[in-house]
Amino acid sequence: MVSSDVFSLLKNELPVQQDSLSLSSHLKTGLVLVDIVNGFCTVGSGNLAPQAPDKQIQGMVDESVRLAKEFCRRDWPVYALLDSHHPDIPEPPYPPHCIAGTEESELVPALHWLEKEPNATLRRKDCIDGFIGSLEKDGSNTFVDWVKANEIKAVLVVGICTDICVLDFVCSALSARNRRLLTPLEDVIVYSHGCATFDLPVHVAKNIEGALAHPQEIMHHVGLYMAKGRGAKVVSEVSFGT
Ligand SMILES: [Zn+2]
Repeated sequence: MVSSDVFSLLKNELPVQQDSLSLSSHLKTGLVLVDIVNGFCTVGSGNLAPQAPDKQIQGMVDESVRLAKEFCRRDWPVYALLDSHHPDIPEPPYPPHCIAGTEESELVPALHWLEKEPNATLRRKDCIDGFIGSLEKDGSNTFVDWVKANEIKAVLVVGICTDICVLDFVCSALSARNRRLLTPLEDVIVYSHGCATFDLPVHVAKNIEGALAHPQEIMHHVGLYMAKGRGAKVVSEVSFGT
């Protein structure tokens, strides 16, 4: 069975109902950008970057930039996670990537301007889960503080990878919300076209020792399905009302 057949089967057997989201100033919403850094998004930028132009990843970057601009124009809060590793601390099963101080761990060029935005909070993280990656040594958490300080009722999550860093962050945020650690947060919303994952088809993976196959369309869908199963809302359209 080829990958496209499996994908059709998956979409039938594990359907993910997606809604439209209309944002307005009535519901205080924060935007979370997960790992939109060169090391995952820019062609040829290291071990985990796409090796050739990638439609899903480029679409994710374009939509994330669009949302980030809309949020900043309205002075709505933005929280950007940047994967950033110490060179001596590996992150199995992944090869070295996004080493701190290199271009790989910097925001993609289309988001460089975010570094100077007063309402954007940038957070470097050295693990998959950005919620855990937001923990400080003293036990405080910059993401929790950001939600509380901005009185955020909903977070809209975009970035890469749908089934890895986005999913783990979403799961942790939902658990933290349920424990009332994130009051007044009510909703964690994943925007499907604002997310992407990498492509490692089975015929390529089998020639790489120890590699786990990771077909892009399938794993993107599975990531959305898992997020929804944990209690996230999944939307396929985001618009801005008055
Ligand atoms: Zn990493």
